[in-house]
Amino acid sequence: MSYIPKCLWLAALITSVFSCANPTNATNSHTDSTASSPDSGMAVTAVMTQELQDTMTPEVILQKFKDGNQRFLTGTMIHRDYMQQVKQTANGQHPYAIVVSCVDSRKPAEVIFDKGIGDMFNARVAGNFVNTDILGSIEFACKVSGAKLILVMGHTACGAIKSACDHVELGNITAMLKNIQPAVDSVKGFEGQRNAKNADFVQAVAKENVLLAQAKILRDSPIIRDMVQNHQVEIVGCMYDLATGKVEFYQ
Ligand SMILES: [Zn+2]
Repeated sequence: MSYIPKCLWLAALITSVFSCANPTNATNSHTDSTASSPDSGMAVTAVMTQELQDTMTPEVILQKFKDGNQRFLTGTMIHRDYMQQVKQTANGQHPYAIVVSCVDSRKPAEVIFDKGIGDMFNARVAGNFVNTDILGSIEFACKVSGAKLILVMGHTACGAIKSACDHVELGNITAMLKNIQPAVDSVKGFEGQRNAKNADFVQAVAKENVLLAQAKILRDSPIIRDMVQNHQVEIVGCMYDLATGKVEFYQ
């Protein structure tokens, strides 16, 4: 049986109580599969609710991320009333996913997946690696708050990955890059230079880094491992292309 600290269960209880005390009158109108017209004046105001979260499967949620990136690519993003969403989420949240990604300024996850306030958790660290703090954040998102999809997202031409490839040493960056070093070492039999000058090598390391992060979540988090085995949560890797805005999903 998994050990869950009392504080986390307390947080879950508080979330549940607040959600009961804050019913929304728009549970049926939340959607991120159908874009409203930017010119129609009909902004989406609804937010994720406990009811919606309960009915969604990881597969459905993954499709919502694929659809959201497609809307981003085609300029058909949903027109949202963010302040209404702020009001509706003030006392509780029921996000359906957590995205683990890099701090890079060119890939804000909510934008490239066309998500609203309260839809998803967003864990960002340079080089999108997974350590104890990120694992704890993932466990909080899934076990305490009910998220069902863990999306680990790398990106092309990542500066942190390049720095790890070149074994950069600078301040606290030195220690941070050690989290990416396993991916650098893990790319075997590569033709050409094994440094940041070789864009193909950098991209191979970026993908390996995503795959290793997925494996580490399963290996180092018994909580998430149990949830995956019980089909309550799915872990998916993906890669964002800085040049095109497109996300390649690894499943
Ligand atoms: Zn990056």
